[in-house]
Amino acid sequence: MNKLEIDWTRCDGHGLCAGLAPDEVLLDEWGFPVLRGREITAGELPDARRAVLACPALALRLSSR
Ligand code: SF4
Repeated sequence: MNKLEIDWTRCDGHGLCAGLAPDEVLLDEWGFPVLRGREITAGELPDARRAVLACPALALRLSSR
């Protein structure tokens, strides 16, 4: 089961992830990501991977647990 996870010790609230994977990530009122927390479908994986690679703080990862 693929899910996005955030390392809160790294996340700086750049918000890029929400722009690249809007089906999986929302932003709160301060610009920090809020994960929908559901399984990422095969069709959503490319967006999720793009968001992981684009995170400037290396705070986003894909987990397959
Ligand atoms: S792109 Fe990375 S640093 Fe920016 S809000 Fe998303 S997880 Fe946090």
